[in-house]
Amino acid sequence: MNHPSEHPRGLDVSLAEQELLVPPSAHRSPRPSVAGTRFAWLLDTDWKQRLRIQRCLGAAVAYLLGCLLMHMGVELGLLPGDAVFAICGAIALTVVAFYAMLRSGFNLLFRDASLTMPQMMMAVNYAAWIYTLGGPSRDVILLILVPLLFFGFRNLRPLQVRVLAGYTILAMAVAMTVLLNSKPHVYDMAQELLRFMVVAVIGVTLSQVTTNDAEETSGILHTLMGLVFTHDPRQRLRIQRSLVAAANFVICSLVVVYAGSIGAVNQLAGSALAVYMMINSAGFYALLRSGFNLRFADPSLTLPQILVAITCVVGGYAIMQESRGAMLMLLVLVLMFSLFNLTASQARAAAFFALITQGLTMLAMTTLAPQRYPARQELINFLFACTVLPTISLLAGQLSDLRARLRARKDELAVAVERIQTLATRDELTGLFNRRHMVETLAQQKKFSDRGGRIFCIGILDIDHFKRVNDTYGHGTGDEVLRSFAQAVQKELRDSDVVARWGGEEFLLMLTECRIGQADAMVDRVREAIAKVQVSGQYPELRAPFSAGLAEQRFDEDIDETIERADQALYRAKRGGRNRTVLAA
Ligand code: GH3
Ligand code: MG
Ligand code: MG
Repeated sequence: MNHPSEHPRGLDVSLAEQELLVPPSAHRSPRPSVAGTRFAWLLDTDWKQRLRIQRCLGAAVAYLLGCLLMHMGVELGLLPGDAVFAICGAIALTVVAFYAMLRSGFNLLFRDASLTMPQMMMAVNYAAWIYTLGGPSRDVILLILVPLLFFGFRNLRPLQVRVLAGYTILAMAVAMTVLLNSKPHVYDMAQELLRFMVVAVIGVTLSQVTTNDAEETSGILHTLMGLVFTHDPRQRLRIQRSLVAAANFVICSLVVVYAGSIGAVNQLAGSALAVYMMINSAGFYALLRSGFNLRFADPSLTLPQILVAITCVVGGYAIMQESRGAMLMLLVLVLMFSLFNLTASQARAAAFFALITQGLTMLAMTTLAPQRYPARQELINFLFACTVLPTISLLAGQLSDLRARLRARKDELAVAVERIQTLATRDELTGLFNRRHMVETLAQQKKFSDRGGRIFCIGILDIDHFKRVNDTYGHGTGDEVLRSFAQAVQKELRDSDVVARWGGEEFLLMLTECRIGQADAMVDRVREAIAKVQVSGQYPELRAPFSAGLAEQRFDEDIDETIERADQALYRAKRGGRNRTVLAA
């Protein structure tokens, strides 16, 4: 079972803006925040603007930290001083510009007033720029991209997310090219390619994980989407998830094949891995698209997909040689999926599988190629995997417990709501609608027929000499008679008619779209049926004849008046000898 986040988001407002749509009291504590008092001049009196400015200032703090770290890098001789000075200057200008736009209200001229997209793009620009400085610290940029994109994607609309993901991948590609061209002797093509692969995989994966495509499509696109994804929303989500993985495999295949062609990895092994990844992607797509997956207990095939992805990453580890460390990061990314989609035991199985295959691969590589895969290095990598992977599976277990608890609560709540609804609208003894519900139904019908000129009739049925049933056979039998009577009447009515228990042994009928003559005929039919119905199991001879008063609803009268006329007619039926129907004048 996995349907987290299957609810569509499809609103044309970014999440950041949606958050702003909630009044501050709904998600802020009533206590005035520090920002609201001492630093009020920095922010804004309008709470929406304040939130936007707060976010911008949060980014400024992050930038400041980054600049301090880079300054330290300069002091240590890791980074060039003049370039860092230029970057820090540009960052300062950008932050001031965004703050000025938000504080002056200039941002309100734009559709997305929080300016999330431009702020994110600037952040990506700086990440790419810093990357071009090179040095071992450039890997930190890759790490920073994860939370950065994650935050951005959560606050953007699906189209913006895709644009930003593409922009990021492009910017990093440019940065890597610049780096390679500026110092061709220092930096190795294969190393940068692998880093590019990690960036692309992170970009593609995060952009899919953080958005739920529920966008309406039309025309050719609609047909095309139907062909690729089917129109069944559940299957569609499964296929979409699988295609995200497939997109990553395509990226990795291209990189591996290219790396093979320039001799960075063993060409044969690279091609074999690429083919293996392509076959797996196509296989899973075929399984999902054909609907064959529906035969399994977990039709999303999450666990098998994760296991196969693990074998691909481990395969990559075996051929990557020097840059294999980065593959461990991908292993973590793959296992992250188990957090959301697997049960605790499945997540444990996935982590165990990853550890075993990774361990065996390391053992095999140190044995086969001890120069390239020194035992000490492998041991360190294995220890890293030993600490991280079980932690992820532990987290996955906790999350899955949480999901199970939430689901149980939801089910309980649904049952409770249904019970309350039954209690509020149904009569306990007979299961028919109760008086309160009938009053509402009649009021609705009155409105409906006033508008459409449709006539309806009201009838009151009262069991004859019911007191004698109680007195002779006991209250229990009386109850049984009431239940049987109710059932029999209900059975004789059309779907559009309604019967309710109006009081003790009185029932009210609402007969729609008929004149009084037809209503009379219908009640006669009910009378015939009731005459045959055995109303008590213990006393098969017992019958429950009734008297009825019928009235046609007039446009110029209230429902109460119609009921009153029906009641008068019923009274006359009783006076006239019972077991008959009287029509109101
Ligand atoms: P009539 O033909 O004039 O209608 O006579 P009747 O005896 O049916 O009418 P009356 O109004 O005198 O008595 C109705 C009886 O219905 C009295 C009451 O004890 C019984 N009654 C009302 N509600 C219930 C119930 O839920 N269960 C049972 N067993 N009896 C009920
Ligand atoms: Mg009565
Ligand atoms: Mg009666």
